[in-house]
Amino acid sequence: MKIVVIGGGAIGANIAYRLGVEGADVTLIEARVPGSGTSGASFSWLSSFPQVSWSEDAGRAKLRLTVNETFEALHAEIGGEWLDWSGTITYGAAAPDFRRSVAACLERGIDLRIIDRHELAQMAPGLSPGPDDDAFVYEPRSGWVDAPAMIERLVKALRGRKGRVLTGRSVAAITIKGDAVKGVVLDDGSAIEADAVVNAAGSWASHVSALAGLAVPLDLVPGVMIYARGASGALPKQVINGPDWLMRPEPGGKVAIHWRGGGLTAVHGGNGSDPASMIADIACHVPALREGAIEDVRIGIRAIPHGGPVLGALPWLPGFYLAVSHGGVGWGPIWGRLAATELLKGETVSELSGMRPDRFYMQAAPLGRFADDAEQV
Ligand SMILES: Cc1cc2nc3c(=O)[nH]c(=O)nc-3n(C[C@H](O)[C@H](O)[C@H](O)COP(=O)(O)OP(=O)(O)OC[C@H]3O[C@@H](n4cnc5c(N)ncnc54)[C@H](O)[C@@H]3O)c2cc1C
Repeated sequence: MKIVVIGGGAIGANIAYRLGVEGADVTLIEARVPGSGTSGASFSWLSSFPQVSWSEDAGRAKLRLTVNETFEALHAEIGGEWLDWSGTITYGAAAPDFRRSVAACLERGIDLRIIDRHELAQMAPGLSPGPDDDAFVYEPRSGWVDAPAMIERLVKALRGRKGRVLTGRSVAAITIKGDAVKGVVLDDGSAIEADAVVNAAGSWASHVSALAGLAVPLDLVPGVMIYARGASGALPKQVINGPDWLMRPEPGGKVAIHWRGGGLTAVHGGNGSDPASMIADIACHVPALREGAIEDVRIGIRAIPHGGPVLGALPWLPGFYLAVSHGGVGWGPIWGRLAATELLKGETVSELSGMRPDRFYMQAAPLGRFADDAEQV
């Protein structure tokens, strides 16, 4: 089966890789370089707390519980230094009503512990919480992904399986014959025939869908990532879910910070802010950052489909498959497997019933998850 995947981010690279593993004739098309979209400006956190305590549709809740094992299996297959399970420490203040969320997560099998300042000091000596921060949640089986490095390994493994990866080429048109999608046309005018086309273009997914005559309602929500180096003293080795910010290690002895606090013009973080004052605020909790240096600042654009993640085909447009979500780093390897099952075996994965794109056209769309501050899937 010939399949074109549009977009070499965490979602598209995982789908293309899995399709290649399962024997499809795959072409991955990336307008710039793989991992240069939102996946290259992401916090890329893997965590179950408090997400597992949320009430959500049964299929999605079931899939959420498979995130860790799916990442481990992928890592065993493709190797590389891109997965770090160093745990997460969440300030109680960062997760309102956190004791109830902890209880719900424990009930669903997530390993969590509430710790006090004394235990925190031993676990994360580089962290100096404020006087009112006295309860924290430690989640050992969580961590983060170096998404560009994961994508690089996926692309390498796909090429090793004879998959084609075209970079610096955009899809400019979708070929429709009869009532079905039959391929794409690139910006240089060349055409590629295919039995199916996967739209994994992230925050460009609406534009790509429009090429097939479809609207995909998305909120595009900017978020700021700051990459910094400490001056002296320890930087935390875990993911820290602080009161207004998230911090994790970043390769090269740095930290990556996602600011969620005030002073931003967008609802959920983004433009118009001053990274130096964000770092000054965070340095009250992480003294090693006081004299540290900001090395890079990136704005990532989250694609948040109305009503949550979207994965699947549209019954009236055979050959067109949509794969768009916030939390796409966490969903990537799971979606790779599920999309390959549906596209190659023609099976319908029941856990995806709440994520189907036909809801945009058949039901009144629920409001977007604009103010949902969770970063994970
Ligand atoms: C600040 C921030 C923090 C986040 N934190 C987390 C987190 O902790 N955990 C998590 O799981 N998620 C997190 N996310 C969300 C996550 O990063 C995204 O959901 C994920 O990266 C989306 O991956 P993607 O493959 O859909 O999109 P992208 O990575 O954007 O990839 C899409 C690709 O499509 C390409 N493209 C577009 N149009 C075309 C075309 N016409 N032809 C060819 N190629 C095209 C683009 O160049 C791009 O590379 C965060 C996002 C932000 C911004």
